Amino acid sequence: MIVAANWKMNPAFDAAGRLATVLAACSFKPVKRILFLPHPYLVPISERLGQSEIRLGGQDCHQDAAGAHTGDVSAAMLRDCGASIVLLGHSERRANHGETSALVAAKARQAVAHGLDVMICLGETLGEREAGKAEQVVIDQLRMSVPDDMPQHRLIIAYEPVWAIGTGEVASLDDIAIMHNAIAGELPKCQGGVAAAKTPVLYGGSVNAENAFAIFALDNVYGGLVGGASLNAEAFDSICDSARAQLSKS
Ligand code: PEP
Repeated sequence: MIVAANWKMNPAFDAAGRLATVLAACSFKPVKRILFLPHPYLVPISERLGQSEIRLGGQDCHQDAAGAHTGDVSAAMLRDCGASIVLLGHSERRANHGETSALVAAKARQAVAHGLDVMICLGETLGEREAGKAEQVVIDQLRMSVPDDMPQHRLIIAYEPVWAIGTGEVASLDDIAIMHNAIAGELPKCQGGVAAAKTPVLYGGSVNAENAFAIFALDNVYGGLVGGASLNAEAFDSICDSARAQLSKS
């Protein structure tokens, strides 16, 4: 089980330090926690967390190793600033920055080459779901976003229906189960045919303290990627606790 926080472009610097300190004060082992931070926060928060079990990640990296790319960050920079993982292909980057699945795959290759793990986000829009194309869209994104030579142990997938992100509208348990089963069935065919049955697939989209336990009970759901609720220490801790409770049941 993995519970990852996507802070996006939040919160203010002082509040971020306080939030990280509160989160680090508790342990939810064996649940793994990841904070995807705004890039300027990586160094100060990794210094603040010291030897904490919480992993830090960047929210994007460039597909090139270095060069004339104003405003971008490289995978090596993230690693050197305390990140061990990077979030790629979030729907906000696909929508706001025109990122394609091919670009996500190029970024993933670069991240792995610099020793980072990669969490790749997939998800359909409301229009695609209403048109009955959700599964096809997500499986196509999966095939095109995961590089053929992706080492299985470096990969995490997050299924996040775009219409559920930041809206308070969660996919039904049935819809989550159907999509996670489809992704789990497709994963072994990605990565150059190397069996990848153990690649964790997280659910994201308005996960909160109330709905996390039921979502984490589903087969092929290995935890959550949490946006809004991750900015509240009590809510995030409660989501981590739900993951731990599901683990102790199994
Ligand atoms: C996200 O941004 O990845 C996300 C899932 O956000 P929220 O939990 O706020 O829907």
